[in-house]
Amino acid sequence: MHAAVLAATNEQIKHELFSAYLYVSMAIHLDHENLPGFAHWMKLQAQEEVAHATRLMDYANRRGGRVVLQAIDQPQTEWGSSLEIFQAALDHERKVTALIHGLYKTAGEHGDVATQQELLWFIQEQVEEEDSAGAAVDSLTMAGDDSAALLMLDREFSRRGAEPEGEG
Ligand code: MG
Repeated sequence: MHAAVLAATNEQIKHELFSAYLYVSMAIHLDHENLPGFAHWMKLQAQEEVAHATRLMDYANRRGGRVVLQAIDQPQTEWGSSLEIFQAALDHERKVTALIHGLYKTAGEHGDVATQQELLWFIQEQVEEEDSAGAAVDSLTMAGDDSAALLMLDREFSRRGAEPEGEG
């Protein structure tokens, strides 16, 4: 693995682990606000992010690359409404999408088609991530300030299941 591609992969592993940290921070707030369904959704999201980091670690390792964990920033700890939280999650996923596209480009610059092939899974996964966060934002926007609608949504989000193996 080219040193620049490995370094960029290590950076992406950090971004995935930061994403998990961010979603855990959101889940803590939502649990505190007595919205266990929204908190459950965020906890599953955090688990998916750890799975993304693990997938990249395993890939780099198979290529003989040395994974070096980077420092992870403290995530935001004060949050506003549920809508603002899910909007922040959507904004974050859009940033991650841009980072993965950047990594794909870096791999291409070094002729690393194997890494590009691996990243195609992540590129498709980001389409799903943006779609599910966007759908949550849409639902919360429709609920607005209606507390009965919010409680119904919270109950609905509590039914989100873990992604099947290999699809998370
Ligand atoms: Mg991710």
